[in-house]
Amino acid sequence: MFIDSHCHLDFPELSSRLPEILAKMQENQVSHALCVAVDLPDFPKVLALAESQPHFFASVGVHPDYEDTPEPDVPGLLRLAEHPKIIAIGETGLDYYRLTGDLEWQRERFRTHIRASRACGKPLIIHTRAASSDTIRIMQEEGAGTDAGGAGGVMHCFTETLEVAQAAIDMGFYISFSGILSFKSAKPLQAVAQALPLEKILIETDSPYLAPVPYRGKMNEPGFVKHVAEALATLKGVSLSQVAEQTSANFCNLFKVTL
Ligand SMILES: [Zn+2]
Ligand SMILES: [Zn+2]
Repeated sequence: MFIDSHCHLDFPELSSRLPEILAKMQENQVSHALCVAVDLPDFPKVLALAESQPHFFASVGVHPDYEDTPEPDVPGLLRLAEHPKIIAIGETGLDYYRLTGDLEWQRERFRTHIRASRACGKPLIIHTRAASSDTIRIMQEEGAGTDAGGAGGVMHCFTETLEVAQAAIDMGFYISFSGILSFKSAKPLQAVAQALPLEKILIETDSPYLAPVPYRGKMNEPGFVKHVAEALATLKGVSLSQVAEQTSANFCNLFKVTL
């Protein structure tokens, strides 16, 4: 079985197709999915999904790309994170690609999430784009990692270098690969995946975005995480069932869940 460690099933293009999506998960042996929050106004929808299906989990957080949205604070995040279906804080992080200018608010928002994660012991889901050195620096300054008494977490939809991956792993983080890993153009990223231990890797769709080959360009959904696993198995020269077992065990270790 496979676990999709990152999807956005509350987005309308997916939430309107839930029965089909559940059927595709079953067909592809995708047993669980983590529904990731991107802002506070839509958080109730994310939580409702997790409450509606025994094999869905959820997170709470505000994405760095959401500029005009209610700002989270530590007590508010902690209150929402108390729910047993909330297994992570995020997605959070830094994105200097989508937004430019003075992004101090993004860094402050990221620090808020790390402080909430440390306080409740639930791991972080970190998004980083064109901002890896600030991301790693703030993770270190705020003690996000298990090496500093934090809850650790995952660098989601990873597209950075091996050095960045290693810095995150040194802090006790996991690295999650999306469908990008299956793209022919992703040779440098494929080399990163080959160099990392399978014990530190998660798989995700980030659906509705980034559908893996052979669905590239189409709408993505959690069932397609199997194709990310296939790409990873080929790159690492291991069986698909080894990838399934290890990445699922990694998910359970990180998020402290038993399936
Ligand atoms: Zn993201
Ligand atoms: Zn996401």
